[in-house]
Amino acid sequence: MANLARNFFIGLSNNDFLNKSARKFGTRFGAERFVAGTVFDAIVPVIRELNQKQISCTMDHLGEFVTDRNEAVHAKEKIIAMLRQIKEEHLDCHISIKLTQLGLDIEESFCIENVEQILDVAHACDIFVNIDMEKYIHYEKTLEILKSLRKSYTNVGTVIQTYLLDAEKDLSGLEDVRLRIVKGAYKEDSTVAYSSKEDIDKNFLMIAKKRLLGKAFTSIATHDHRIIQELKEFIEEHHISKDRFEFQMLYGFRVDMQHQLVKEGFRFCTYIPFGEDWFGYFMRRLAERPQNLNLLMKDVFYTEEDKLKKQPIIIGTAALTLLLFLGRRRKKEQNN
Ligand SMILES: Cc1cc2nc3c(=O)[nH]c(=O)nc-3n(C[C@H](O)[C@H](O)[C@H](O)COP(=O)(O)OP(=O)(O)OC[C@H]3O[C@@H](n4cnc5c(N)ncnc54)[C@H](O)[C@@H]3O)c2cc1C
Repeated sequence: MANLARNFFIGLSNNDFLNKSARKFGTRFGAERFVAGTVFDAIVPVIRELNQKQISCTMDHLGEFVTDRNEAVHAKEKIIAMLRQIKEEHLDCHISIKLTQLGLDIEESFCIENVEQILDVAHACDIFVNIDMEKYIHYEKTLEILKSLRKSYTNVGTVIQTYLLDAEKDLSGLEDVRLRIVKGAYKEDSTVAYSSKEDIDKNFLMIAKKRLLGKAFTSIATHDHRIIQELKEFIEEHHISKDRFEFQMLYGFRVDMQHQLVKEGFRFCTYIPFGEDWFGYFMRRLAERPQNLNLLMKDVFYTEEDKLKKQPIIIGTAALTLLLFLGRRRKKEQNN
């Protein structure tokens, strides 16, 4: 059942038509719980508030699987404008980018050019850039591009997904690169990825521990309290300095735990997604934890006094009907 729900939401996250349609609605269906807004200006106060609580941030201007050059250039320009604003407003904040948003599926050299322009501005602003890891089909290419960028830039790092069978092997060669360790958010084939939670967790712990004993900075990105607890014990046992790593969580998730980790003196960074392309991101969050849907249902449909709200039901039903209608019409057009 859990797998069915996961496959369903992952399927939706990859649906081009739904992704494009969702842009027109602005964040809806409770997505605003996990997506901070659609424009950077509106997020600045959110970052400031987190910074005041000793939490740094990484900004993700949402967007992926871009197949149009203009769209990729537009995304690059928005990211560059965001870097300048981060610098001007003295925010404690770095950025996370996706290569498919910057044209990897269009032409590799075009994508690299876009990333280099981002890295030049980021370097001038003294801001770190993380390249998020996407689906496995982009994995080898992403590592290859990162390694080539590292020859000219030190302010760039990436992500290791511990569901990948090769994750440990691929750590070698990245010993001095700042890395984020995650479990992995996409649906991958069993020939390349572990599928059981037990194997993925075991690999996460092994890789995170290896990194913590290494020399480069590591971001431990998980909401899993069991993993965090085991790593905290490991850190204490091995007298690992708190400057050498940080915990990361996504915006809107386990906020109490985020504050608790800061209280305990750990470095903490919140990953803040924003922008019009919220649909794929939102569906992946529902895929990895169907309970998130319960939280949302409660927020979207009920008031604090547990009374049923009318307005979201009307908007939700109308939006769903419209999506189904447009989807059917499109299918019909394709069949003709
Ligand atoms: C900062 C950050 C950046 C990321 N970047 C990438 C990336 O670049 N590429 C990529 O593929 N993936 C990325 N991910 C997603 C990641 O791969 C996982 O899909 C996602 O984090 C879910 O796994 P988890 O480790 O948080 O815990 P899960 O395996 O989802 O949960 C483990 C256990 O933790 C508890 N738990 C989890 N969430 C909650 C909650 N909200 N409330 C209460 N209990 C909870 C539950 O007991 C659950 O059983 C990122 C995640 C984070 C946090």
